Amino acid sequence: MSVHGVDDQAEVGIIGGSGLYALDGLTDVRRVRVSTPYGEPSDEVVLGTLSGKRVAFLPRHGEGHRISPSHLPARANIHALKSLGVRQVLSISAVGSLREDYAPGDLVVPDQIVDRTSQARGNSFFDQDVVVHVPFATPYCDRLRPLLADAARANARVHTAGTYCCIEGPQFSTRAESELYRSWGLDIIGMTAVPEARLAREAELCYAGLALVTDYDCWHDGHDSVTAQAVAEVMHRNGEAAKATLTALLTTLPTDVACACQNALATSIITPLTKLPESTRDRYALLLGKYLPTG
Ligand SMILES: [Zn+2]
Repeated sequence: MSVHGVDDQAEVGIIGGSGLYALDGLTDVRRVRVSTPYGEPSDEVVLGTLSGKRVAFLPRHGEGHRISPSHLPARANIHALKSLGVRQVLSISAVGSLREDYAPGDLVVPDQIVDRTSQARGNSFFDQDVVVHVPFATPYCDRLRPLLADAARANARVHTAGTYCCIEGPQFSTRAESELYRSWGLDIIGMTAVPEARLAREAELCYAGLALVTDYDCWHDGHDSVTAQAVAEVMHRNGEAAKATLTALLTTLPTDVACACQNALATSIITPLTKLPESTRDRYALLLGKYLPTG
């Protein structure tokens, strides 16, 4: 883990996905390279001030969109943000819609996730010597979600809830899969909410997602006639709406908050922490520091 100075601190983390590769309007910008016990994050973290808040921006797929969903260093990304002092994370991603009334250009603040990933994506920080079972019934922060939805309303049509179906990819679904997910009542489909949301909970970070609806998934009759240009136009509009939403949200977002997310490990650590090997204590210093016995 690298050691950061005071200037390298941020209150809010923003993970940008397809359609949001950079944030305009940041001032006092510094780029920092962070190393973590879980490897390197997707890219340098861009630290800057937006609407009076110090933010840490990380492009999820790296500069030039070169890391596919299955290979994202999600553990390093979340760990890096936490190491910079971040306590609240806003995760932006492009999604397909599984229902008619969630139309391209709409924004969704999802409240649930169904995990359909199949590869080893590094689903937990706690992979040696310590067993942790965090509650995950509510995968997104219930305090942050309505604030995000309120800030989004001025910029697009907003859906204040939705179940995010996270598939492995990188291929899109088959029509049969898409119809299956629809029959399950799932609302939007993407490739990145898992394990990001799981890891944010383990890192005791408040985490909310802003999903930008790009297209109807392949179930929709009009799907085959959608042109790349039309999708590009929707993505551009979505990106602008996301930036305006973040700018508005940060203006009013409380930073000194007490939220259950930030104590998620308090009753979740099964293994007694009294006799951990030194190497394990080092690996988990940032995540378990406040729970480790001193001396
Ligand atoms: Zn929270």
